[in-house]
Amino acid sequence: MNRAETLERLRSQRFDLLVVGAGIIGSRIAYEAAREGAQVALVDAGDFGAATSSASSKLIHGGLRYLEMGDLKLVREAHLERRALLDRVAPHLVRPLPFVVPVYRGGPHRASAIAAGLFLYSALSGFRRSRGRLIAADRAPDWVPPVRTSGMRWAGFYMDAQTHDSRLVLATVTGAARAGAAVLNHSPVVALEALDGRLAAAEVAAPEGAISVRADHFINAAGPWVDAVRRLEDPAAAPIARLSKGVHLTLEPLGPPWAAALTVMLSGGRVSFAVPWEGMLLLGTTDTDYEGDPGAVSVTEADVAEVLDEASIGLPPEVIARDRIRYRFAGLRALPLTGGASSAAPREEVMRVGPLGMVSVAGGKLTTHRRIATKVLWRLDRFRSVRFGDEPLPGGGPPPARPASIEPDVWEHLVHLYGSEAPDVVARDGLERVHPGGPDVWAQAAHAVASEWALTVDDVVRRRTTLEIRGLATPEVRREIARRCNLAPP
Ligand SMILES: Cc1cc2nc3c(=O)[nH]c(=O)nc-3n(C[C@H](O)[C@H](O)[C@H](O)COP(=O)(O)OP(=O)(O)OC[C@H]3O[C@@H](n4cnc5c(N)ncnc54)[C@H](O)[C@@H]3O)c2cc1C
Repeated sequence: MNRAETLERLRSQRFDLLVVGAGIIGSRIAYEAAREGAQVALVDAGDFGAATSSASSKLIHGGLRYLEMGDLKLVREAHLERRALLDRVAPHLVRPLPFVVPVYRGGPHRASAIAAGLFLYSALSGFRRSRGRLIAADRAPDWVPPVRTSGMRWAGFYMDAQTHDSRLVLATVTGAARAGAAVLNHSPVVALEALDGRLAAAEVAAPEGAISVRADHFINAAGPWVDAVRRLEDPAAAPIARLSKGVHLTLEPLGPPWAAALTVMLSGGRVSFAVPWEGMLLLGTTDTDYEGDPGAVSVTEADVAEVLDEASIGLPPEVIARDRIRYRFAGLRALPLTGGASSAAPREEVMRVGPLGMVSVAGGKLTTHRRIATKVLWRLDRFRSVRFGDEPLPGGGPPPARPASIEPDVWEHLVHLYGSEAPDVVARDGLERVHPGGPDVWAQAAHAVASEWALTVDDVVRRRTTLEIRGLATPEVRREIARRCNLAPP
């Protein structure tokens, strides 16, 4: 269904459920509800996944640091989810990744505490083949070649997984649309209307003109905007979430490829990650209280300095030199309203049912998004029987064979992003690289606009391809994407 048809459907139909916000949580809610046979509308103020769900650390993990917070239930649930996403739901987008944790002399943790933590972490996980353990300091560079070994006594070793977060959202939105949901991006909900004490319609400010979308049930999955959307239902609603900013950097990698990621333990229960991701080095993240407009969140020079400074505990200066930075991004965690440092706040989702029946949800983990989506739906009688299954998302089928005409690294990239649907991308014109420095090809831009709802050049370079995170979305590339795809010039 194209955008004009979707707008017409949103205008004319009455839906069982309207989901406000298409990050990973809202998309999964729409997917599960549509698969139940419900008539579902999913609308987002910006692009699908453009907020927190594309600004994460990209880890599908049990959450080693939640062990320290004593949250065994969250760790266990997250491990189960990681296994399902890896093995069945999105094997193309979620891949296993080993981690090395150096234990330095004078660091915040003793080797025995790390060993005990890794043992428990592995016991809660499904990685029976690779139990978490200590390895000798001189073995750590086998996994992370440039890791700083001076002062290292031991290193912990464990398995987790990583993903491409915004593509995971897109696969979920695609699944929802194929199950019958009407999905619309770049269209904020700006007002809610009630009838007989229940919400009955939402005003959606689409760029093509305002529309009123009628529905029986409303779910607010607006992430950091959760309280703003709750105030559309009840102007006096007291907040349910506090926000904390997390910043990441991508850097041009230096030296031989890494076989593992690096976890550096910091004081106060925080960790810093250095992760090989999409051919880049991803560093992060910070954890600082944030107040104000979530749409205005940005990366400051102080944030960059903090990320680099914390990474320098485990990595030499040449690997994390400022001139290697190719992209920087900030995201906002929505956390339960507790006092104290945001880094110590529980990571579980917050949920509330409003006076006019809207269910609001925010926070939690990318890793546990399927469980959160189901718990939200259970708050509505109509969806009490929803049980999430392990069916593969679009692209989660068997990987296709490489056509002889496509270079191996390009094909590996396409199969990672599109999985079993990579042949649909290569069926389009433009198999040349967009930029010689990366594996994205022009056909991906055409596919993004024709089949993945991209409306702007940013939608293409930031979330549907890896051009921006590799620092390859140059002004020339942006202009050429606009020209080829008939998008507004950047
Ligand atoms: C720095 C950082 C690192 C993280 N790392 C990890 C990690 O490695 N692993 C992990 O499992 N989790 C991680 N998380 C947590 C994870 O990213 C979030 O839990 C998850 O992305 C939240 O998704 P969401 O759908 O609730 O919110 P969002 O992705 O923010 O989606 C909310 C959507 O609502 C839309 N919206 C807002 N207002 C309106 C409106 N009025 N009308 C329509 N739409 C609206 C927004 O445009 C947005 O797209 C991290 C979070 C942060 C901030």
